[in-house]
Amino acid sequence: MRATVMFGAGDVRIENVPDARLIEPTDALVAVSRAAICGSDLWPYKTMEHSETGHRMGHEFIGVVEAVGADVRTVKVSDLVVAPFLYSDGTCVFCREGLHTSCLHGGRYGWDGVDGGQGEAVRVPQADGTLVVLPVGTDDALMPSLLTLSDVMGTGHHAAIAANVGPGKTVAVVGDGAVGLCGVIAARRPGAVQIIILGRHSDRIALAREFGATDVVSERGEEAVVRVRELTDGFGVHSVLECVGLEQSMHTALSIARPGGAVGRVGVPQDESMPASQLAFYNNVTVSGGPAPVRAYIEEFLPDVLEGRIEPGCVFDRVVRLDGVPDGYRAMNEREAIKVLIEF
Ligand SMILES: [Zn+2]
Repeated sequence: MRATVMFGAGDVRIENVPDARLIEPTDALVAVSRAAICGSDLWPYKTMEHSETGHRMGHEFIGVVEAVGADVRTVKVSDLVVAPFLYSDGTCVFCREGLHTSCLHGGRYGWDGVDGGQGEAVRVPQADGTLVVLPVGTDDALMPSLLTLSDVMGTGHHAAIAANVGPGKTVAVVGDGAVGLCGVIAARRPGAVQIIILGRHSDRIALAREFGATDVVSERGEEAVVRVRELTDGFGVHSVLECVGLEQSMHTALSIARPGGAVGRVGVPQDESMPASQLAFYNNVTVSGGPAPVRAYIEEFLPDVLEGRIEPGCVFDRVVRLDGVPDGYRAMNEREAIKVLIEF
């Protein structure tokens, strides 16, 4: 079968790889019908050292179940399923607490002999705990929005939960990538009154406004902090969704949280230490967040997508076939595209 393999920074290729197949009795074999390129795929795209064998890529996909292991009970052949970006058993102590990212039997696609999602098929471990059946056909118009449930919509929602977003709250979203944009949806959903998007790309800002952003701050650094304070009676916001992960974005996030506020971070931190820790301390700012347990959120968001209340699939502004994936990486890396959808 054919699949996406990264051999080093800027070097993504479509290669012939061994066919995906069942190994464990808890596996499902899924033929991929839609997949996506993730903002987090761009970190190795910028920095990965050359590798002779390469690394299988992709962790966001929808597909049709082609075979199941003897112990699989909740999905069956020909079901259309969405996969969260990690697999998990759904039964261990952490999964039962809704923290599937810490599953005792979980793991990542593209590692430990598990296929990546940007390929023709995937062996999905822990199928019962991982996969969610979708009650639509493979060519349904909702497919882009359903695909966001595998990562970006759930990740934006996780940032909102970690930042204590709720009715009447003021919110700032740091980062105008797909996760930040979904964070706007996630902030509006429970009734935030003011949603400030920090970003500078006109296409992304326009989409943020469609999703419910009330204000735009395009300045950076200290100027952005001043601007957010101006928009919030000088105090800053109750809730900040940090969707970037860089030192400057985290510094900005902590600087625009009002005293007693909270920062929910879902941008993978690129530094070991956290900036502005004294500021956060003296302002009693809660810092929370981490990798989003999106599996815990899929069922909650399914009705919203199926009944058209939210349309997170609008973050996809480019569609490619498998052969177009290397150029899709380039386009996302150069900010030509917000997010790339792969059709099989
Ligand atoms: Zn678990």
